[in-house]
Amino acid sequence: MKMRWIFSALTLVASQAWAQEPPYGDTAGTVFDIIRADDPSALQCLDATGQAERQIWDKRVDGEPVVNAYTFMARYSDGTAIEIAVNPEVASADAALAAAQRFARPLGQLPTSLRQGIRRFSIHQGDEGFHAGTGQIVVYTGRADQRASYDHLEESLFHEAVHASWDEQHRLAPDWMAAQQADGRFLTGYGARSPDREDLAETALFAFAILHHPDRFPPADTADTLAAVPNRIAYIKTLLPPDQPLYYQVAEAAGCLSG
Ligand SMILES: [Zn+2]
Repeated sequence: MKMRWIFSALTLVASQAWAQEPPYGDTAGTVFDIIRADDPSALQCLDATGQAERQIWDKRVDGEPVVNAYTFMARYSDGTAIEIAVNPEVASADAALAAAQRFARPLGQLPTSLRQGIRRFSIHQGDEGFHAGTGQIVVYTGRADQRASYDHLEESLFHEAVHASWDEQHRLAPDWMAAQQADGRFLTGYGARSPDREDLAETALFAFAILHHPDRFPPADTADTLAAVPNRIAYIKTLLPPDQPLYYQVAEAAGCLSG
């Protein structure tokens, strides 16, 4: 009898642990095409502004060297603007322009509230994982190729934009942390391993899908997500309200040098 009790207790513990498992590993590894390459972009123009010294974190050297970067200003119709800095390791000014163009348009597909906080977007060659901090995103063209190969470049930029634009105000906000507590689970393993740094960015993409592109996120995944993290989805709903426009004017759109 005692053995049977122990067995039942273990089974119960095992099933509870299973129930607590995040339904996804990480959003970067999922296949949902939530932002499509041909979705409209608020990009108005990309002005080349020359070369200037910029200090840019670079995972390949595990440091933040100063480089004489090719610089561009991407201007968007909602009044947001992002400096794009391209590592001068590229072959030419034309190659730098092409690199900047590749990202300027998808950055214009982000909701205004996620683009607004991005001050500088830096581009290196190489295949390191993207990273971001308040106001800044750093990407590597090899990893961008890999993400684009399964239509996930825009989604990866969305994740990094959460770090750049929202983290400072929200990742440790009392209401966000209360939502984490109330949910008692994580949406992704990546978020679970780094609840204070990655959980918001990981959860925001699927919240965006459910709130704004439900046709692009399968019903079963919507159900799984809402079952796992309903309070976090409700929190993000206040940041991306579905009954209000994703694009809104934050300043007068600046004129473009390039017309
Ligand atoms: Zn992240």
